[in-house]
Amino acid sequence: VSTLTVSVAEILGRPGEYRDLDISASLEGIQTTLARLDATPIATQLRAESIVEGILFSGRVRASAQLECARCLKGFTEPVDLKVRELYAAPGQELGDDVYEVKGLEADLEPMLRDAIALALPLNPLCRPDCKGLCGICGTDWNEGPCDCRVDDVDPRWAPLDALRERLEG
Ligand SMILES: [Zn+2]
Ligand SMILES: [Zn+2]
Repeated sequence: VSTLTVSVAEILGRPGEYRDLDISASLEGIQTTLARLDATPIATQLRAESIVEGILFSGRVRASAQLECARCLKGFTEPVDLKVRELYAAPGQELGDDVYEVKGLEADLEPMLRDAIALALPLNPLCRPDCKGLCGICGTDWNEGPCDCRVDDVDPRWAPLDALRERLEG
């Protein structure tokens, strides 16, 4: 049983009743190509609200992610702060396949939090909005200064194409 399993016994089937929950827990293995949740436990401030269909969980989730800049590959850490609002269907409610469910008198919030956090991780993290990236030829970090390749190796006939590419990337 994960620490993210909460009892809803007191409010299930009593629409209008609610409980506030502050839960911290470690979640491992949430990642995308350039981002992953780090070892900092996630902190949630959630309200569990009883409605006719089940229990509605809403509130705030905070975590910390280890990211890799999509342009210069530098690693950096960034807070993850998201809002969630998800229904857990009461036992016996037929609300479809991709709905979270109350099992018995408990709701396991882990799958919901995993889904929400994975969606909140940036797909294209940047160490800073104007990161210049690395030179594709010599690997110089253009944030630290220009290299010589760009000027010397560029065939003037390709200049318009390079300008276009830079505009698209920018
Ligand atoms: Zn960068
Ligand atoms: Zn270079």
